[in-house]
Amino acid sequence: MRRVSVLGATGSIGQNTIDLIKRAPKEYDVVALTGARNIAQLARDAIDLDAEIAVTADDTLLDDLRAALEGTDIGAAAGSDAIVEAAYRPADWIMSAIVGAAGLAPGMAALAQGTTLALANKESLVCAGGLLLQTGRAHNATILPVDSEHSAVFQALVGERMEAVERIIITASGGAFRDWPIEDLPQATLAQASNHPNWDMGQRITIDSASMFNKAMEVIETREFFGVPPEQIEVLVHPQSMIHALVGFHDGALMAHVGPADMRHAIGYALHHPHRRDLPVERLDLAAIGRLDFRAPDDRRWPALRIARDVMARRGLSGAVFNAAKETALDGFIAGHIGFTQMSDIVADTLEALEAQPGHIDATMTLDNVLHIDHLARKAAQAAIQKRAG
Ligand code: NDP
Repeated sequence: MRRVSVLGATGSIGQNTIDLIKRAPKEYDVVALTGARNIAQLARDAIDLDAEIAVTADDTLLDDLRAALEGTDIGAAAGSDAIVEAAYRPADWIMSAIVGAAGLAPGMAALAQGTTLALANKESLVCAGGLLLQTGRAHNATILPVDSEHSAVFQALVGERMEAVERIIITASGGAFRDWPIEDLPQATLAQASNHPNWDMGQRITIDSASMFNKAMEVIETREFFGVPPEQIEVLVHPQSMIHALVGFHDGALMAHVGPADMRHAIGYALHHPHRRDLPVERLDLAAIGRLDFRAPDDRRWPALRIARDVMARRGLSGAVFNAAKETALDGFIAGHIGFTQMSDIVADTLEALEAQPGHIDATMTLDNVLHIDHLARKAAQAAIQKRAG
């Protein structure tokens, strides 16, 4: 039996992971499941899978969690420290699927016990990629990508040498506003931005797809995960989301990963790695699909891609500033304080504000410094939102 934990179990990635685990329950010994506000789902899955412990990030909900688990011997805990402790519990495989920078400390804790970490939480790589990878190396841990593009690149690289790689191309569906006139984007509503044409995902990542902030994060994630320079990373708009990524080699070959838009493929690949197992995903009928389309991304429609390149050029802790500003701007858009296109203005303003304060972006990358600059960037982004809203 493999001991497994799912951090962010109640979310979209977490639920897809649990779906796969529930299909072969005898193979897994579930250690910890964590969530935040969705106590009913957390408790239900903990009971179904007979987990050792269920943890909510929200300590005001501990009594609710205890009540939902009454009559079982499943442990209950609450708070961000309890999530980190859950990640430290010995397990062979841990899914990191908490949303946002809150996933960083639990991801580091999981790596510190030398486990295999299936990394969906791209924010932790964007904020502190160097630190995460170094922690993994120091404890002989393995990190497997779960983002569909990075899983695709990882799969295309099996048996290859990184020296032979000329470029990595990650595809983007273009999200909800791919075909909108650019001048209409400032009027885009929350409901329109929350409606993804291809993928069924959480609301935040769906809006990030419409703004391309998700792809901007993934470009940085690619740089961190595969260690390739920014100029070797390209984004290609591919509306059908069937080719997830391509790797170009020095001999001119392009290896493309083609698969359905179903996160259970990438999750399943990470769960069974290095083996391939039957997965409950659609088999593509390419003859029926008939054609696949591609186009170059336009920085005017998606300024987030240009900002990501600036961040990679700046390095230091600018990834943490970028992520915190992006999360705060997204909160501002969801709350109706700023318009859709103002999100990229807020992120650019925040990077500029933090850059102007010496000793922050160029500080050493430690967990404390990353969390500190994350806090400062959120405050600066909030101030930028207030300035624009007021
Ligand atoms: P969701 O919003 O659906 O789920 C997020 C999870 O994190 C939930 O379990 C939520 O709990 C929990 N959570 C929220 N806030 C906190 C906190 N402060 N501390 C601890 N846990 C918290 O997100 P997704 O599943 O869509 O995404 C998860 C991660 O995977 C993100 O980093 C995302 O970028 C990445 N990803 C997602 C993909 C997708 O298809 N959805 C694709 C590729 C990557 P609760 O729901 O109980 O409040």
